[in-house]
Amino acid sequence: MSNIRFQALQTVLTRTIPEIKAPANKISDYYGTNVFDKKKMREYLSKEAYQSIINSIDKGEPVERDMADQVASAMKAWAIGKDATHYTHWFQPLTGTTAEKHDAFFEPTADGAMEKFSGDALAQQEPDASSFPNGGIRNTFEARGYTAWDPSSPAFIMGRTLCIPTVFVSYTGEALDYKVPLLKALHALDKAAVDVCQYFDKSVEKVNASLGIEQEYFLVDLALYNARPDLYLTGRTLFGHESAKNQQLEDHYFGSIPSRVYAFMQDFEAEALLLGIPLKTRHNEVAPSQFECAPIYEEINLAIDHNQLLMDIMDRVGKRHNLKVLLHEKPFAGMNGSGKHNNWSMITNTGKNLLSPGKTPKSNLMFLTFFVNTIKAVYDHADMLRASIASVNNDHRLGANEAPPAIISIFLGSQLSEVLDEIETSRISKKAKEDALLWQGIPKIPQILQDNTDRNRTSPFAFTGNKFELRAVGSSANSANPMTILNLIVADQLKKFKTDVDKILKKGEKKDVALLTVIKKYIKETKSIRFEGNGYSDEWELEAEKRGLANIKTTPKALDALVTEKAEYIFENTGVFTRREAHARHEILLEDFYKKLQIEARVIGDLVNTTILPAAISYQSKLVENVRGLKEIGLDEATYSAQIDIIKKLSEHINFIKNNVEQMVEQRKKANAIDDARERAISYDEKVKAFFEPIRYHVDKLEQLVDDQLWPLPKFRELLFIK
Ligand code: ADP
Ligand code: MG
Repeated sequence: MSNIRFQALQTVLTRTIPEIKAPANKISDYYGTNVFDKKKMREYLSKEAYQSIINSIDKGEPVERDMADQVASAMKAWAIGKDATHYTHWFQPLTGTTAEKHDAFFEPTADGAMEKFSGDALAQQEPDASSFPNGGIRNTFEARGYTAWDPSSPAFIMGRTLCIPTVFVSYTGEALDYKVPLLKALHALDKAAVDVCQYFDKSVEKVNASLGIEQEYFLVDLALYNARPDLYLTGRTLFGHESAKNQQLEDHYFGSIPSRVYAFMQDFEAEALLLGIPLKTRHNEVAPSQFECAPIYEEINLAIDHNQLLMDIMDRVGKRHNLKVLLHEKPFAGMNGSGKHNNWSMITNTGKNLLSPGKTPKSNLMFLTFFVNTIKAVYDHADMLRASIASVNNDHRLGANEAPPAIISIFLGSQLSEVLDEIETSRISKKAKEDALLWQGIPKIPQILQDNTDRNRTSPFAFTGNKFELRAVGSSANSANPMTILNLIVADQLKKFKTDVDKILKKGEKKDVALLTVIKKYIKETKSIRFEGNGYSDEWELEAEKRGLANIKTTPKALDALVTEKAEYIFENTGVFTRREAHARHEILLEDFYKKLQIEARVIGDLVNTTILPAAISYQSKLVENVRGLKEIGLDEATYSAQIDIIKKLSEHINFIKNNVEQMVEQRKKANAIDDARERAISYDEKVKAFFEPIRYHVDKLEQLVDDQLWPLPKFRELLFIK
């Protein structure tokens, strides 16, 4: 029987490309069809109930009980009209994926059955969810967790189920998900930013953060994927020699999209668009078989729900096309990894993007205020931002030669760098009129910045014209994590800014003078985090060290930043995490780290012992037989010296691999005996993971030696190039 690799290759050859029919010709005709959005609410709800929801969305006011009943029955009517039979609270536990537990609308009655959905069922559910990560917050005796409706993210229908976005909290009120802290951080940002806006524009009542998420991913054929236990158990290939051709010709990037992939894209995009996810862009990425999609930006809570939903849709639609979507940050060593660029800004209820330079000096001062405060927040809390993107997967990317480094720096582009430099060295004139620009030799900020900003792809945090782009987020991450941190540090910073400005105002100084004085001070203080050069270069590592910027390359240590006194203070000050919640989260992240390494180490052991070494030994036996035969017919040693040479090489690799796997298992046992989560994670990182590369090196050498017919795992060239 041929091995599973050849069976998979056979299967791939039989693939056909399904014909994709869009729900309608024009996207605008079907966009949002499966969402209970404002338009449908207006249609299905009384004026009063509609207003109550709008107040909840815009002002965060709670929806009263009787209104919730009305909303529930309207949602039910709409959903049943679209053939839904079930409903579920849809939430984002700390596993990183989304969770749902479906209940039928149907209920038996005395004389038959009916479809029911009450305000209570809409507002709250109690999933038996004691197995979600909680970092010790929920003991089994208080294992209850509650999901509660988040009216700011609209309900939608997936399959035949009405999904209601919810938060997930413990019986004692602590956050057990990604949404609760995000919403709290957004609330803090709203308040702090509105306060600062008052210096410029009294009509600002609300500030929303906006987010546009670019999503990178790989695609491999499902049959080949299923023939690679490392892929389906860990999301990445733990072995595999580089394909002779990979990305060196750079012929994939922005190339024409392969037909099979194009069909998949059309299909998942249609599903996403039906669910109101405003997908706009698709293209080939740098690595072979790597692609990207991006929606138009939205209010941040919605953008994150949509990204979580999108990852789920892509996975499910992928299977329909016999394609596996790999969201892992580094599925293939030696090739580009995948990220999730988070394009972030702040936008007022009056429609002003606070990170967009304006026409007048006054609006430019407003822009500078928010711009420089963001820089200051990132400067002061670079450690927390670094922690927010830390994961076992992302450790493969950060600092590798194709992703932003683990050093947090900020790229501004030459125009804005010059502007800040000029402000730093200029004298603020106290005599000028209030409305006129107040510093001498004032640099003009061009309203439309030259689009040279995106050229620097090496910066983890880059200003790109009217938004900042956090590029270091991992492709599989829930963006809520880094976005909670970013929004809360900016919120905290804006509060400090207001205090600093008000102090100067109290001394009788003019407003613009006070604002500029503080801005100038921040520009001075934060200079060392600004970097315009190549973030991938070795020189930058040295330079960053000189500047005193942190460069923490591994997760267990990067996570320390979440439990410092500084972090605890800022979490409490912004109301985002209690001390207990912050520590629980820290623990969960550490657990996630070492558990994933534990799984990888086990898969390495299993595959080596039961798949790779047997293949190498079979081949070696064949060679031995061959040599014996040659000897038997009386040929001298020179005729089979090559075979002897290969036999010896095989033995060297086999012995090395076996020895090292045994040592790795020993180290794993030691690590497992460590109680402290941080120490255990560090031990996994430094002692267990240390074996991965050397073992892999020798396995990959075997891959190059062993008869192709005997090699059991699909090779990189097959995973990446056959479709
Ligand atoms: P890039 O050159 O980085 O590809 P794009 O202009 O295509 O830039 O934008 C990438 C993402 O940034 C998109 O999702 C886009 O909607 C989003 N974006 C644009 N403006 C903003 C903004 N003001 N706030 C947040 N995201 C934005
Ligand atoms: Mg971009």
